[in-house]
Amino acid sequence: TLITGERGLSSLVGVSVHELMHSWYQMVLGTNESLYAWMDEGFATYAEEEVLLELKSEGLIPGSLPTENSYDAYYANYADLVFSRLEEPLTTPADHFTTNYAYGRGSYDKGAVFLQQLEYVIGRQAFAKGMLRYFELWKFKHPNPNDFIRVMEKVSGLELDWYKEYWIQTTHFVEYAIDEVSATSKGRTKIKLERVGRMPMPIDLLVTYKDGSRQLLNIPLRIMRGSKPAEESSLPFLVLEDWPWTNPTYELELQADLNDIEQIEIDPTRRLADLNRQNNIYQIN
Ligand SMILES: [Zn+2]
Repeated sequence: TLITGERGLSSLVGVSVHELMHSWYQMVLGTNESLYAWMDEGFATYAEEEVLLELKSEGLIPGSLPTENSYDAYYANYADLVFSRLEEPLTTPADHFTTNYAYGRGSYDKGAVFLQQLEYVIGRQAFAKGMLRYFELWKFKHPNPNDFIRVMEKVSGLELDWYKEYWIQTTHFVEYAIDEVSATSKGRTKIKLERVGRMPMPIDLLVTYKDGSRQLLNIPLRIMRGSKPAEESSLPFLVLEDWPWTNPTYELELQADLNDIEQIEIDPTRRLADLNRQNNIYQIN
């Protein structure tokens, strides 16, 4: 714990909350901080952000509430790490990283994104339940990464070992694109998606129609052996056929005329750590 001086109020509150969060991660939940720095710093960073959001929403600290993903800054820091080519897998013990930069951005930012992105994979409800159950089951013990992911598998009913293995054991990144949108001869719309990065993920695809209606399509990943439920009751939600993780592309057909569609967007909640969001939106004029 190191709370340095000469800080502005928000920064001082931020670091203080962060250090307090370590009372949970990794004190009560006694993870091995040398072996799994991301379960210590990443989870504490995540908890810090949650607490700061709450303090802001109650007007107890200055700052406006974010309109989209409040973790955008952590996602951006993680993306910088990938582009720097200095990234090392999070299985690297804390004192064996080649650079302090890779240790810091990896453990704190990529570690926090691990949780926020997991919420995207399994859905808000299962994620919240899983975080509470993880605490109940593992307080005053020494959980490792498998213990954590097993809890999340049980609350979601989904296989998640692939998520932990790709995110923690490799430096593969997530990058999806809307490759092609076209009208079919039968008056429907064909959409071709492309997995550009090596890490496979389930896809949320928001279709906005010109009449103002919206529909969220969910493409589960086949290795999940299932899909998340709808997260927003007000938004029509449709689960499509799962995407085999080895396939670089995926095609789907909408029962709608291309001229009736305004926009198609991958991951409207911005919880997917997609490195290039420019190719996530397709607008039809
Ligand atoms: Zn810390």
